[in-house]
Amino acid sequence: MQQHIDSALLQRLASTYGTPLYVYNADHMTAQYERLSQAFTQKKPRFFYASKALTNPHVLRHMHSLGAGIDCSSINEVLMALYAGIPAQDILYTSNGIHIEEIVSAANAGVHINIDSISNLRKFGELYGDSYPVGVRLRPNIMAGGNLKISTGHDKSKFGIPIDQIDQVLAVMAHTGLRIKGLHIHTGSEIKDVSVFIQGVQLLFTLSEKFPHLEFVDLGGGFKVPYMADEQGTDIENLAKSLEDAFALFEKNTGRDVAIWFEPGKYLVSGAGYFVTQVNLIKQTPTVAFVSVNSGFNHLIRPMFYDSYHYIKNISNPQGELKPYAVVGNICETDTFAWDRELNEVREGDLLVFYNAGAYGFEMSSNFNSRYRPPEIMVRNGEPLMIRRREDFTDLTRAIMPIDNT
Ligand code: PLP
Repeated sequence: MQQHIDSALLQRLASTYGTPLYVYNADHMTAQYERLSQAFTQKKPRFFYASKALTNPHVLRHMHSLGAGIDCSSINEVLMALYAGIPAQDILYTSNGIHIEEIVSAANAGVHINIDSISNLRKFGELYGDSYPVGVRLRPNIMAGGNLKISTGHDKSKFGIPIDQIDQVLAVMAHTGLRIKGLHIHTGSEIKDVSVFIQGVQLLFTLSEKFPHLEFVDLGGGFKVPYMADEQGTDIENLAKSLEDAFALFEKNTGRDVAIWFEPGKYLVSGAGYFVTQVNLIKQTPTVAFVSVNSGFNHLIRPMFYDSYHYIKNISNPQGELKPYAVVGNICETDTFAWDRELNEVREGDLLVFYNAGAYGFEMSSNFNSRYRPPEIMVRNGEPLMIRRREDFTDLTRAIMPIDNT
């Protein structure tokens, strides 16, 4: 949690645009990007912002203006990046479990591609031979990440080609002439321990001699950001120094120059985001005081999906007495944002703000219960800009075929 937008501005934005409302601090994104890129002094990596975290094209443009490329997980994310004006050579497409046709569409768009299954690698090699070099996503069989649902590199994970099947990658190369220009791993999200990244890169170094056309090693994303005041995130400077040392040794031993690529999502946008809600009602029961806000997991699913913690602040009554509450939503499923949370005394109509709501917040929202998705406001140099309007009923019915009332 750093570089906050102050409560007075959030209150102003809430009265202008209504609630619920997503607010993003572009200056925080800039600061995070600069910290990351400046941590590397000897060997500058290429950063591709993982657009799945927050896909609004205004955000993609902002990231690109900082020097980042855009990492995509679906062909529509590729189209969104192109729509935002990002050139194909700055777009990376890494998907999993998809049909070969989608990879062919990505190739038609001319973007960098990482392929994550033997089946698609073979099909791609048969179609393109040596004319379209690609990266391969490998599964390093390392368990890491904030919780099981966001751990992607372990030996039971569906992601990537298991490292023990590398011979099958080599066989595809031999059979089709396909050139592998990158080795990719993404071990998980919220990885605090720097040694996980080093372990991963060492593994890729041991494989590198099998890949004569190797241009980059892509270490994915997954840096941890702090959610609580006393929590530490990934030590970025330590990570940079350790990686630079590892690469210097590799280069000395092999005489090869291989670039470092990253795909950070959460690190760049999590702390930039605020989700502003309003208290609909307070239900004081014999055991629990429920605070029901005008939202639910239809707008912010992370607490229900993987028990994520969001700091919550009552910006309408910051001096109020601290009391314990259960903060819940207004949809017809259990949608608890926080249990037994101390908040400054909450009154009906107060504004409750959820912090660290920039990553996987709006992006995982839905129209469940036929509710509208909130607007998004981006603040840059203190200037708010609406980058998505609030939905209305026409958005809910846009794809519905006409109803025959005769
Ligand atoms: N790269 C890949 C392949 C991913 O699957 C993800 C997250 O799911 C990311 C990058 C971004 O991870 P994070 O937001 O934790 O940085």
